Amino acid sequence: MEKEYKLKDLPGVGSTLAKKLEEAGFTDLMAIAVTPPLELAEAIDVSENVARKIINAARKFLRLDLETGLEYEKRRKEIIKITTGSKNLDVLLGGGIETKALTEAYGAFGSGKTQLALQLCVNVQLPQEENGANGKAIFIDTEGTFRPERIKQIALAKGLNAEEALKNIFVARAFNSDHQILLLDKIKELLAKGEPIKLIVVDSLTSHFRAEYIGRGTLADRQQKLNRYIHTLLRLAEQYNLAVYVTNQVMARPDILFGDPTQAIGGHIVGHASTYRLYLRKGKKNSRVAKLIDSPNLPDNETIFFITTYGISDKEE
Ligand code: ADP
Ligand code: MG
Repeated sequence: MEKEYKLKDLPGVGSTLAKKLEEAGFTDLMAIAVTPPLELAEAIDVSENVARKIINAARKFLRLDLETGLEYEKRRKEIIKITTGSKNLDVLLGGGIETKALTEAYGAFGSGKTQLALQLCVNVQLPQEENGANGKAIFIDTEGTFRPERIKQIALAKGLNAEEALKNIFVARAFNSDHQILLLDKIKELLAKGEPIKLIVVDSLTSHFRAEYIGRGTLADRQQKLNRYIHTLLRLAEQYNLAVYVTNQVMARPDILFGDPTQAIGGHIVGHASTYRLYLRKGKKNSRVAKLIDSPNLPDNETIFFITTYGISDKEE
């Protein structure tokens, strides 16, 4: 067994600083160890240098700096794969939507990004034997597209109690990008309270950022905020062994003459942080085509699925 370390065990952290850390949501060493220095510095009002020292000490205590291949494998083994409802799509993703990772779905309006989000909110509640994660979901809704009726429909099709299924989803409407960022604190609170959340959905990740930051001058600012937002989500994914699913609109790139004239909003910063990127589009006869882009351990590949009354499926109604 590993020894339990307390915040006050960290060199330089007395009771005042320990209290500050706790109030800012840094209740254990792991939370500190995975936080960027500048973010910690701002959260507890110390210099970046002091923050870096605290972070390094936390990493040392947790022996996080380097680990053996065996330890790494053990950590990978904790990963749970949540089914999408489509075998085809699950296979494409290497088994389903992974915990400890961020999956980004991007595509045009109507390509199925939100439907997949709603489906995952139900599927995460299934027992692990049925390729769920036996957990709850958080749905951050920036476009007003969360539909309780649709959740009930999908839940019933999965043999779940519709009311229970709704109870297991925490929904918040984010009204602008600042509000969207602020809601991260609420998410951290729920997680710190011990809610068994295994999925965080942000639908859409980028719409507010895109609407509010217009023009070249503000682009760097937007990217920085978006970058930090994504990394906080990734950190929570790692810390609590949960899956993060975000959606992203595509915009036309009139300057591209060949190839696909659409590109995900947020550019390469979103691209690098996502562990899995899915490009969704409408296919023949009501189908949807999913293409996996730039995955670290899976080949870029395509598959088809359908959106039916009963949810995401391999078969047409
Ligand atoms: P996006 O979020 O990518 O804009 P959506 O996930 O909202 O797109 O997908 C919308 C599409 O999903 C609709 O055009 C329709 O084809 C399909 N859809 C939505 N609800 C249902 C339903 N209850 N039964 C069958 N198909 C549905
Ligand atoms: Mg949508």
